[in-house]
Amino acid sequence: MTPRSVSTGLWTTQLSTKKMQGTRILTDPHTTRMVDDVGQDMHEFAAELFPICRSITGDGVRKTLQIMQREIPLKVIEVPSGSRVFDWEVPLEWNILDAFIEDPDGKRVVDFADNNLHVMSYSTPVDKTLVLQDLEKYFHIDSRNAQWIPYRTSYYEPNWGFCLAETTKRSLRAGNYRVRIDSRLEKGSLTYGELLIPGASKAEILIYSHTCHPSLANDNVSGLAVTTWLARRLLGRANKFSYRFVWGPGTIGSITWLAQNKTQLDNVQHALVCCLLGRPGPLHYKRTPSGCRDIDDIVESVLAQGEYESVILDFDPYGYDERQFCSPGVDLPAGRLSRLPNDAYVEYHSSADNMELIESTTLEESLECLSMIMEELDCSTYYRNTAPNGEPQLGRRGLYSAVGGMSPKDRQLIMLWLLNQSDGRHSLQSIARRTGLELDQLHIVANELVNVGLLVDVNIAHQENEK
Ligand code: ZN
Repeated sequence: MTPRSVSTGLWTTQLSTKKMQGTRILTDPHTTRMVDDVGQDMHEFAAELFPICRSITGDGVRKTLQIMQREIPLKVIEVPSGSRVFDWEVPLEWNILDAFIEDPDGKRVVDFADNNLHVMSYSTPVDKTLVLQDLEKYFHIDSRNAQWIPYRTSYYEPNWGFCLAETTKRSLRAGNYRVRIDSRLEKGSLTYGELLIPGASKAEILIYSHTCHPSLANDNVSGLAVTTWLARRLLGRANKFSYRFVWGPGTIGSITWLAQNKTQLDNVQHALVCCLLGRPGPLHYKRTPSGCRDIDDIVESVLAQGEYESVILDFDPYGYDERQFCSPGVDLPAGRLSRLPNDAYVEYHSSADNMELIESTTLEESLECLSMIMEELDCSTYYRNTAPNGEPQLGRRGLYSAVGGMSPKDRQLIMLWLLNQSDGRHSLQSIARRTGLELDQLHIVANELVNVGLLVDVNIAHQENEK
């Protein structure tokens, strides 16, 4: 990759220097640690989170957020069970202490203590003895591999179940089996973490990562580790935008956050769902529904630099929390960045998605790519046309004379593009990419239009509104 030009932030300089010198002696601005250590640090952090039994509610999520608080000053928010959130209701809180199946000799043949995937998440409490034939109705096995334990949930339908390897199931002989699930479903709350890193502008970049999967590495703890480290980097520098991180359960968590923040969503300039970032594989960017929001342009331009193998996906209403952010009543400009996404890798939602599947170098690459995306977002400039009804009359404002080495014709074309695209949602950088016009020339002409009052810098307007 050609070294990128130095911009306002810290990372670009460091990334460029790293590539130019071919060395890895640079430091993380937050910790002064070696860049080399970052991937390893995130891997160790993910390994600490991995054994915790998370679900959409409960102590596992609290414990996860507490560990993250050692690294970043996130706030923990509790939303009571029964709270109405759009078309949904915050469910009862689920916690589990123990679960097992004992064979006719009293030997534990399936034990929650060995692997928390053994219990279907949100299983209701059970303590009974069943003949094997009846017990098997509550078994879930993984059709992809006889050794794997599948991951199953039943959040909204009261039920219980055990997930086990097919080989274990085959080894069970006829007889009476004791099953016990020591779980509680009771009024409590849904827990999520939130961190606002204020920037010069009130306009926000929203980053969401889900917290609800138990012992699964790529599909869950990798995203938590990378977004935690991204937050640490953003805390260590002055930002133009404000950055809001939310770590909450999939679906019900983003819906709850949206319902609670409905009146503030206008502040969100860009949103990115970040998950599944540790298993080696190409980076996958999933576009917004229209595919032409600024976040699409910016992420795609970073990926197009060819630093990492990447794939661009069109939106579909499946996947993770981008579905909620892109629902029609909310309509946030939300894309999603992952490595191989849900269902695109064979170990997905099984015990094979473990700490051996994710790699330090992949975590570090994901963090560096996200850092580059944030850098691009943070140096974007947004204008709004103050006379947007028809074209404003340029002649009477003296805007036809040649300036800055541009011919009057070129300059007029740039003006018309700027006036046409400046709705506060298309950055100057994005206009340059789409039109092929030079960014420097766009800056010059935009300044002229600002001077005559035809354009206003949206982020400066935000700041002034704040005062
Ligand atoms: Zn998942």
